[in-house]
Amino acid sequence: MSQIPEATAEIQEQIEPDAVRERVATVRRRIEEACRTANRDPSEITIVAVSKTFPMQSIAAGVASGLVHFGENRARELRDKEKARPGRMHGGDVIWRFIGHLQTNKAKYIARHADWFDALDSPRVAEALDERAAKNDRVLSCLVQVNISGADQKYGLPPEDVHTFLDNCADYPHLHVHGLMAMASFTENPEDVRPQFRRMKELFDGYDATDNPRVDMEELSLGMSNDFEVAIEEGSTMIRLGSSIFGPRQYD
Ligand SMILES: *Cc1c(COP(=O)(O)O)cnc(C)c1O
Repeated sequence: MSQIPEATAEIQEQIEPDAVRERVATVRRRIEEACRTANRDPSEITIVAVSKTFPMQSIAAGVASGLVHFGENRARELRDKEKARPGRMHGGDVIWRFIGHLQTNKAKYIARHADWFDALDSPRVAEALDERAAKNDRVLSCLVQVNISGADQKYGLPPEDVHTFLDNCADYPHLHVHGLMAMASFTENPEDVRPQFRRMKELFDGYDATDNPRVDMEELSLGMSNDFEVAIEEGSTMIRLGSSIFGPRQYD
């Protein structure tokens, strides 16, 4: 059975191309404003449109608004969406990213259908993905997920383990790490999580990848709909936006 969500009339209306285009324009203005504050160039920031729980029309509307990267957090939903709209790895026009926790028995779907895996957070998951990527004769691009919020989050490596984990990625010839990802604590006031973003930037800048052929520190994925401006001010290169592009989700 297809795992692509069906849309209610309300959701269909919410993801009409015009509605999405307007939200994307608003988000781009906010990105520019945050970049002005931080003295950065907006071209340094990549938007990942988080399309989880939304039907295929959300992808079409996103592409029509100039978006390329789409994020999913369920392996079989990503598989079915990628079959319907092939990603770069199959010559398509979108880049599919897996941004959620992965159970190792679903690694095969990621190796076959995800362009990127943004939530690498344990040797177990790395081994499973490396083995499956090898079977598919590919190198899977990854980000390492860090738990910067402590008890608020179940997933991600403890910050103090990140550099050792990156060193050990030399053992996985079919994975290539391109940076770090984290989710901050949920708060009403995004200023509260600024120290968490700052800690991530230190971890990111503090790793010397020169002698590690499996790691390049290029992307720092920080910030969601409620806190992306603060994330940009603290050095994020990639923001993951769901509700601010597609409107509210009916379930997670
Ligand atoms: C759902 C999700 C997002 C997007 O959340 P919004 O608040 O809707 O922007 C970002 N990152 C991850 C890892 C997610 O699971």
